[in-house]
Amino acid sequence: MNTIPIDRTIRDFARIFKNNGHALYIVGGAVRDALLGRPLTDYDFSTDATPREMKAMFRSVIPTGIAHGTLTILFEGEMFEVTTFRTDGDYIRHRKPSQVLYITDLKEDLKRRDFTINALAVDPDDGAVYDYVEGKQDLHRRIIRSIGDPHVRFHEDALRMLRACRFASTLSFTVEERTLEAMREMHHLLSHVSGERVHIELFKILSSPVPSVALFLMHRTGILETLFPEIAAGSGIQQRELHIHDVMKHNFYACDAAPQSEPLVRLAALLHDVGKTYTRTVDESGQLIFHNHEKESVKIAQRILRRIKCSNEETETVLHLVGHHMFHYTSEWSDAAVRRFIHAVGERHIDQLFSLRIADIRATNAAQVPPETFQEFRERIDEQLRDARLLSLKDLEINGNDLAQIGIPRGPQMGKVLKELFETVLDDPSQNTRHQLLEIAKNFWEKRMNLFL
Ligand code: ATP
Ligand code: MG
Repeated sequence: MNTIPIDRTIRDFARIFKNNGHALYIVGGAVRDALLGRPLTDYDFSTDATPREMKAMFRSVIPTGIAHGTLTILFEGEMFEVTTFRTDGDYIRHRKPSQVLYITDLKEDLKRRDFTINALAVDPDDGAVYDYVEGKQDLHRRIIRSIGDPHVRFHEDALRMLRACRFASTLSFTVEERTLEAMREMHHLLSHVSGERVHIELFKILSSPVPSVALFLMHRTGILETLFPEIAAGSGIQQRELHIHDVMKHNFYACDAAPQSEPLVRLAALLHDVGKTYTRTVDESGQLIFHNHEKESVKIAQRILRRIKCSNEETETVLHLVGHHMFHYTSEWSDAAVRRFIHAVGERHIDQLFSLRIADIRATNAAQVPPETFQEFRERIDEQLRDARLLSLKDLEINGNDLAQIGIPRGPQMGKVLKELFETVLDDPSQNTRHQLLEIAKNFWEKRMNLFL
């Protein structure tokens, strides 16, 4: 493990630095992953050249992270991220540094990094690996270890504690004992870290093979309690007979069982039952009930997603899936009921909702879910999608102008009439003619809407 193979383009790229009297190294995740034989996604480079010097060396340079000394350089059709060697200035309130100091020493640059396995560098010229902190040994032993005293390092930047959990699950590594101990003692500092940074790490956890590796670690160390107390509160909350896990573990295992390629479905799975903790009651016969728990889950999930600065699109999808996860299809459903379901869930979310529901079932009692689950339902949905073609208000044969012409005022009242027409057509698509709909609208307006005036 003393050298790694290097692409020709990268060697050419490095040569330009050398010809200008500078050094360039591949650093961080790419070196770690290459030594582990994992597929490489992106390269990070470090150099002693300052951003100003790099701008003089290359034609196309984008100042992507100039505050931290990072530039993106376009070279032979590739984009390379290069950061000037630096030490971090003062850490403020356990967050990222306020200023960076450029330095010329590779060793110092590597020592400011979070874990030994992330502090390896490779010289692209000869593929030689530089290791000042026993990173290779830890890679070999599959260990995540802070560089230096973990207390000091987590004080500087508390996010590193969450990153340790993230690497444990993306790499299937173990966190070294002293590092773990410091996480147990210092997890509360994570409350100072920005939601955006937590978001990035959480999504990497959700995209790892088995997210519960990180989630259990977060729970054991108290990190879960600090960042997501609503999820941690499900620990020890027992459920009905069919369930073999408490609410928290059920959410974790549902998250594992959702598709790895769908982080939003996994996030929905992690949150789908959080509301159970807050809605649990016991009925007269001593049965546990979780009345309307999915609605409570939506409320709690919304708070969590806002806190970690999820985009509107992410939030919408996750809340939508959480809110609809309790459907109970049987063969007795009428075609109208199937159409209502399609309309409520939305065509583009149906596969995701099925994935969530299958994950939910698997996480209930470790049951195998037969591949034909929902097959009949799926076929009936497809049939409706093919035949009925009526799934949104726009598909009605009349619109607001038509309604205005027969004297229905625009605004919320007209909205109610349109909704009524839509419901009618969902029940019976043959009603979707201009003539029929105008009749129904007039009727509805005269008989029912006057009551609202
Ligand atoms: P990934 O494969 O997920 O990109 P990575 O190791 O490249 O993993 P990044 O978040 O891209 O992780 O960070 C790149 C490198 O920068 C890390 O390998 C590490 O050396 C350093 N680094 C990133 N975040 C921190 C931090 N909070 N504290 C110290 N060093 C960090
Ligand atoms: Mg990276």
